[in-house]
Amino acid sequence: MLSTMQDLPLSLARLLRHGTTVHSEAEVITWNGSESRRETYGELGKHAAKLANALRGLGVTGDQRVGTFMWNNAEHLAAYLAIPAMGAVLHTLNIRLFPEQLIFVANHAEDQIVIVDGTLVPLLAKQLPEMKTVRHVIVANGDAATLQAPDGVQVHSYDALLADQPDTFDWPEIDERSAAAMCYTSGTTGDPKGVVYSHRSIWLHSMQVCMSDSMRLAQGDKTLAIVPMFHAMSWGLPYAALMVGASLIMPDRHLQPAPIAKLLEAEKPDFAAAVPTVWSGLLAHLDANPQDISHLREVVIGGSAVPPSMMHTFQERHDVTVVHAWGMTETSPLGSVARPPHGVTGDEAWKYRYTQGRFPASVTARLVDDDGTVLPWDNESVGELEVQGPWIAAAYHGGSEIDPDKFHDGWLRTGDVGKISADGFLTLTDRAKDVIKSGGEWISSVDLENAVMGHPAIAEAAVVGIPDEKWDERPLVAVVLKEGQQATVEELRDYLADKVAKWQLPEYWTFIDEVPKTSVGKFDKKRIRAFHSEGKLD
Ligand code: ADP
Repeated sequence: MLSTMQDLPLSLARLLRHGTTVHSEAEVITWNGSESRRETYGELGKHAAKLANALRGLGVTGDQRVGTFMWNNAEHLAAYLAIPAMGAVLHTLNIRLFPEQLIFVANHAEDQIVIVDGTLVPLLAKQLPEMKTVRHVIVANGDAATLQAPDGVQVHSYDALLADQPDTFDWPEIDERSAAAMCYTSGTTGDPKGVVYSHRSIWLHSMQVCMSDSMRLAQGDKTLAIVPMFHAMSWGLPYAALMVGASLIMPDRHLQPAPIAKLLEAEKPDFAAAVPTVWSGLLAHLDANPQDISHLREVVIGGSAVPPSMMHTFQERHDVTVVHAWGMTETSPLGSVARPPHGVTGDEAWKYRYTQGRFPASVTARLVDDDGTVLPWDNESVGELEVQGPWIAAAYHGGSEIDPDKFHDGWLRTGDVGKISADGFLTLTDRAKDVIKSGGEWISSVDLENAVMGHPAIAEAAVVGIPDEKWDERPLVAVVLKEGQQATVEELRDYLADKVAKWQLPEYWTFIDEVPKTSVGKFDKKRIRAFHSEGKLD
């Protein structure tokens, strides 16, 4: 028997209409390094309509891909709304991809139009001649005349293009299963892989982002979205904010610790989200330049394991609660969020907060070992995490076959290794490819990193496995000292002595100025391994 309920599509056109009318007073606030420009969601609705009319004028009539090569700002938010709501597909291009990867993703997605920030024109211009499907480039927040377009590509000024467009648009009814947006994984191995989100998956994911056991976004919040809009859809914050009427604070290109600190002072957000490396920079800056940041009710951190020492620094020095979360581009990205169970306090609560978190109802998880045996949730059995759910990818874009290394039997193979407790909390020990196999045992690179980063002289520590004749692999620790601090290898080994098993104690250490980072700001372990094998590390 079928239900008697209405079957209306969960479409981003509906989200746009709701957010820009019901929450018309909420704002998108874009930071220029010293002051903010503000646009209400009411104005944003008109802005998005003008953009949609302009895109229609350039030939976007169906599911054409429109790329964005932009920072987090009001124009990017307008693109987030207008492109999917008009039935086209938003493709957020990662501005930090290597040139050949950028060309690959633009061609693979068949982007026809790219909207680019003025400051990023030189970066795009170099690759544009190789982007075979691009016909129009729209330059926002900058001078279109600076772009020398290759033959067959027209360049437009964003402001001029939008100026005379109507500020209403007849947003179509869209099948909720159709593509709304796409994002490529940053491709640490092989070519980047395209994940295509549907209207429905984005809608459901946005609801989860707002739930109190997740990120708790709510009406009236001032949400600082540092995580780039080209990295896993800024963790779903833009759409969730429109859904509930939370204001969005956008740092634009001002992502260094000092301007972020200034932005915190100016706008006093109550919520912020970014990867750990952004926060370690900011915390070091605040050590040298004290500032009250206790207006931040919570900071959500994910993308890599959050060192417990970072959580304690936030709490004890700044009175800010860190909420640890896990996810991937393939999971939209929200997978799990670490909020201790009701009534758990003190040290017990901290234990829960260190974990990668608990799965919400829509994310079904299991652990499997190398033979495919499903393991129990006993917080001891360690295996690869696999997940299922309505906002989790079932395949990559454009592949003729489903990649068996990533998907099987309707499950996404995450490549992450860990354990799950009976009450559904995930603890990741490592990425499968980063686990160090030493003498037949596994060493978690993340556990070692967290332990080393607890030392007061250490700013950052990245651990990789290096080949070893006797043991197969041994850990190499690449450490960055805090400014003005000293530590010897002997001191660091002594410090670790009561924190890790004796056989895990690393004998190989190297002091470096900076840990190399990936295009989304994570430790780039592939490069550290390469530096080591090329003899570039002492
Ligand atoms: P990339 O694979 O390019 O880093 P993603 O952002 O999609 O891009 O990365 C997802 C991966 O990041 C996960 O599979 C996991 O390995 C790692 N990750 C994300 N959140 C956490 C976390 N809280 N703790 C440990 N690892 C995490």
